[in-house]
Amino acid sequence: MINFELTDEQKILRESVREWAREKIAPKIPDMDVAQKYDRGIMDEMGELGFLGVSIPEKYGGSGMDYISTAIVSEELEYVDSSLRVVISVHNGLNSLGIYQWGNEEQKQKYLATQAQGKKLSTYGLTEPNAGSDVGGMLSNTKEDGDFYILNGNKIWISLADTADNFIIFAKSDISKGSRGISCFIVEREFNGVSTGSIKNKLGVRAGNTGFINFDDVPIPKENLLGELGEGFKIAMSCLDNGRFTVAAGSVGLAKAARAASVKYSKERKTWGKEIREHQLIQRLIAHMSRGIDTAELLVWKAGWLKNLGRRNTRETALAKWHATNIASQCADDAIQIHGSYGYSNEFPVERYWRNARGARIYEGTDQIQEIMAGQYATGLREDKPLRKELPGWTPED
Ligand SMILES: Cc1cc2nc3c(=O)[nH]c(=O)nc-3n(C[C@H](O)[C@H](O)[C@H](O)COP(=O)(O)OP(=O)(O)OC[C@H]3O[C@@H](n4cnc5c(N)ncnc54)[C@H](O)[C@@H]3O)c2cc1C
Repeated sequence: MINFELTDEQKILRESVREWAREKIAPKIPDMDVAQKYDRGIMDEMGELGFLGVSIPEKYGGSGMDYISTAIVSEELEYVDSSLRVVISVHNGLNSLGIYQWGNEEQKQKYLATQAQGKKLSTYGLTEPNAGSDVGGMLSNTKEDGDFYILNGNKIWISLADTADNFIIFAKSDISKGSRGISCFIVEREFNGVSTGSIKNKLGVRAGNTGFINFDDVPIPKENLLGELGEGFKIAMSCLDNGRFTVAAGSVGLAKAARAASVKYSKERKTWGKEIREHQLIQRLIAHMSRGIDTAELLVWKAGWLKNLGRRNTRETALAKWHATNIASQCADDAIQIHGSYGYSNEFPVERYWRNARGARIYEGTDQIQEIMAGQYATGLREDKPLRKELPGWTPED
């Protein structure tokens, strides 16, 4: 039976994230956005509130909640600002769930607990200056040396690069094998030869940190190989099933924020003696927002339902990400239209929504990559094969 009712636990979670984000954090965001100022203290609070380990089982220090709860946290955070949700995507979705899925018991004990409680912040390094969508083109590489892999290379456009404590990093352990030669390593900021920096003047996510990481002969202990040698591409893609889910859910939040701002303004602004909400062309823009928001939300819930059951959801999550990010982008664009010239200034939040929404159509797989995947699934050119380690579903015992 399909059930759209949230559990009492999920309702309480929504209320607590909403109250914290809208009352405590939202007032700080406009200044942080203008100043391009990232605030690690906010991440610490997110950790204390349990948001940074929402779907990590309690035995690994997490909150033990299900994947719909992860969607709720993502949505409520991005309602306020995308920079908050990006942390959920890279820290929870791409890194921690990746370690939960692929890590051995020692790795889970060592890294998950501190990450789930936000004592350590983590991210995911796949993209390089010359390779984004075409992951197999990466140049970062490792060589074995006794008890270590020695890592060299560069990553760019990495969320939280300049602030995270732990990274999962993809690099070729065998450069002769293309994407099959990629392996995945847990790297700590404290390892010798790791250096990072921030990218300034991005279009959006300006209250968040995005940057580059350089690896100069970094010795990685062999026990920090995640999965097996040569398994990195599969790990990278499976992590994206979790990151994209949070991007999709967050986009629903951004779209709802754009609609709420539009409805509010449409009651305040008058033309020809009427509130502009009375003009049918304004209603149409808002009606289209509602159509998009509800369909995006349904796709997110379907993907979350599959995740809770522990079933593969690559197709459904990619569809949710593709649709929801485009809906968010369109809602933000139409919200600017509804605000007229005022929407074109930062007196109102809608221009920030528009800038933030744009990025989500690029990261974690561009629009084109999601479209290619959807086309391949539909035509039978792509099908999911079982992975050596599947992400476990959710049970109340978690
Ligand atoms: C704010 C932000 C945060 C990010 N955070 C992270 C992060 O934490 N970790 C990380 O690893 N990366 C991160 N990224 C990087 C992001 O995931 C990549 O930039 C993205 O995957 C696209 O890669 P690219 O920029 O190299 O574009 P390219 O791959 O060079 O693509 C350029 C254009 O060509 C199109 N294209 C490429 N191949 C095809 C094809 N086969 N058919 C049709 N069109 C194609 C693309 O869709 C795009 O329009 C982030 C990016 C941003 C903007």
